[in-house]
Amino acid sequence: MQAMAGPPPKPWPTGLSEQLEPLVRRVLAPNPSPYTYTGTQTYIVGGREGVAVIDPGPDEGDHVAAIESAVDGAPILAIMCTHTHRDHSPAAAPLAARNSAPIVGCAPLIIRTDRPRADAPFDQSYAPDRVMEDGEAMSGPGWTLRAVHTPGHTSNHLCFALEESGALFTGDHIMGWSTSVIVPPDGDMSDYMASLQKLYEREDSVFYPAHGPQVDRPRQLVRGMIGHRRQREAQILRLMGEQPRAIPAFIPAMYKGLDERLIPAAEMSVEAHLIDLEQRGLAARSASDTGDIWQTN
Ligand SMILES: [Zn+2]
Repeated sequence: MQAMAGPPPKPWPTGLSEQLEPLVRRVLAPNPSPYTYTGTQTYIVGGREGVAVIDPGPDEGDHVAAIESAVDGAPILAIMCTHTHRDHSPAAAPLAARNSAPIVGCAPLIIRTDRPRADAPFDQSYAPDRVMEDGEAMSGPGWTLRAVHTPGHTSNHLCFALEESGALFTGDHIMGWSTSVIVPPDGDMSDYMASLQKLYEREDSVFYPAHGPQVDRPRQLVRGMIGHRRQREAQILRLMGEQPRAIPAFIPAMYKGLDERLIPAAEMSVEAHLIDLEQRGLAARSASDTGDIWQTN
């Protein structure tokens, strides 16, 4: 997790329909926060004869109305979710009901509940009509969206590639303002790194993330993110080498000047790295009264 830039000055285009390219519009939801930047960005793909709505966002009446206004009477042929965090998928159900549209895309999440409230950030009500596997496509008049399975941020995360223009809708796998937050147990650093590599090997022309500005040089950004994670891993190995420690004791050296509200996310990110290192035989933990103590192996 690395904030690259603060949010832009207001006013933000909340609720407006912004045309990004002939086939793509964007509508910003009214849910800004330290985790969502200016809010969730819903994308509308297609034209008058039929559209797909990608990441309908939080279930807020104003946002559902803004999506419908941007769609402007075109049939909604698919409501597609990249993953089932609460800021992405809850509006799928009301939008589907009001427009007789199918929900297509990521699988519902089966969470490994090995800790309290492990499922808290997830949308439990998400019920897709069709689950897309890696490489499967959904088409409408003049557009084809192909699923790219990118686990890591969540195990069910999909990106969607728009074949006509070369754009990739990256959900939370790649965000335009920060690196993705990996929250164990469902978030998995080994998967995330493999999913970054998967995008690095593609030749997408632009990324449209669910949060933050569009990315015009995708491979350069992905290469930077892979490098950033390797640096984080090296820092963690060095800090453990200096002295075994609990997770909170990694944070001050690793995240200087971090917004206090993001400390829990930073701790989860360190934990995700530690679990990955443990699985690779490079770190080990021992239980203590104040939580696990981590050391190099
Ligand atoms: Zn998310």
